[in-house]
Amino acid sequence: EGQGILRRLDARESSARTYARHLRIVPVRAEGMTVEGADGRTYLDCLSGAGTLALGHNHPVAVEAMRKVIDSGRPLHTLDVATPEKDAFAEALFATLPAELARGARVQFCSPAGTDAVEAALKLAQSATGRHGLAAFTGAYHGMTSGALAVSGGVAAKARVAGSGADVTRLPYPYAYRCPFGLGGELGERTAAEYVRRLLADPNGGVVPPAAMILEPVQGEGGVVPAPAGWLRAMRDVTRRHGIPLIADEVQTGMGRTGTLWASEHAGVVPDVLVASKAIGGGLPLAVVVYREELDVWEPGAHAGTFRGTTLAMATGTATLDFITRNRLAERAASLGARMLARLEELQARFPCVGDVRGRGLMLGVELVDPEGEPDPLGSLPADPGLARAVRAACLDRGLIVELGGRHDGVVRLLPPLIISDEEAASVLERFTDALEASTR
Ligand code: PMP
Repeated sequence: EGQGILRRLDARESSARTYARHLRIVPVRAEGMTVEGADGRTYLDCLSGAGTLALGHNHPVAVEAMRKVIDSGRPLHTLDVATPEKDAFAEALFATLPAELARGARVQFCSPAGTDAVEAALKLAQSATGRHGLAAFTGAYHGMTSGALAVSGGVAAKARVAGSGADVTRLPYPYAYRCPFGLGGELGERTAAEYVRRLLADPNGGVVPPAAMILEPVQGEGGVVPAPAGWLRAMRDVTRRHGIPLIADEVQTGMGRTGTLWASEHAGVVPDVLVASKAIGGGLPLAVVVYREELDVWEPGAHAGTFRGTTLAMATGTATLDFITRNRLAERAASLGARMLARLEELQARFPCVGDVRGRGLMLGVELVDPEGEPDPLGSLPADPGLARAVRAACLDRGLIVELGGRHDGVVRLLPPLIISDEEAASVLERFTDALEASTR
């Protein structure tokens, strides 16, 4: 059955398909962290719908929320009118926001994909400031529509599609393994802030502020790169000083994944605009942008979209958020993530091809390098995407689903659901170690 399905879809689906190229699985059942293929094999899923499934597959809380809506006879699609489900979701969402942002904030429901919420955030900042330019970071990933792509920067597999002609100043992200701006410490952070100020400076010594600065508190597709807290605060300071709205893209980092409900909290940074999607819909499509009241300058219909009122997603989103908060899953992500990271550090000490391990909470990355390669000026070795692909395949052979990321596609990313048990975490690490051993023999 599985082989026939793969063959027919290989022939019919656009070559734009990505996961389907290396995940030769036809999933027919899934529960929690486990996926079962049509061939009867089971897999531990550390991709989690690209970071979407905070509660894993088919969590009873999400399924029950869907069932309740379906059985209630409520309309499933409502454009963007008011519904009880939307009201409940907004209530739950606002309860997670830092008080400074929640006070008088506005939420805008977008077409349900991260990239659309990014578009909304960028255009809103441009409308509110009357300025056009945007500041963004190397290695960023914000989505595949033109504006989001324009503020993305140099992530291997995604860089080949042209962005729009947007006016983007690209700034260095603090990627400590390969970029001196990540060296941290007070001096490093001050230097980064000063560098940003100079890049934005006009020839007369003033600052030409862009319409917005957009950043990920932890870069995901860029290779799981957590920004140091001090650097995030430095970016908050420099943007505040020059009246630049700061947009935090928390599409991947939000909803507890990094050990706090929102990753910006780790640094005590409150953005002016928060972009969220993926996990907020509890597995169904949902995307929002939340912003300070004074940025709410749009005329009705200024950023429209047909699918902004998907009742099921609001209901599963509310139930999921509720479950995460009640069960303190962010704290759980922080403690288990730290333990997993410590185990990955042991692998780094043991395998010369593990150049760097890093992450925050349950967003973990292992950068694979060529130990024989020429070190860069910081002493870091070149990425080894070939080895990364081999490790990903060896993981799949051992029943572990992982995905790659990074500037050169050399980073193995682990994004388990937040409900992962200690036993499952141990099994993930065992299978990963085994795959690493087999790929480097
Ligand atoms: N921003 C970030 C930080 C992301 O990780 C992603 C998706 N990987 C997006 C935006 C785009 O989201 P979507 O794929 O839903 O358009």
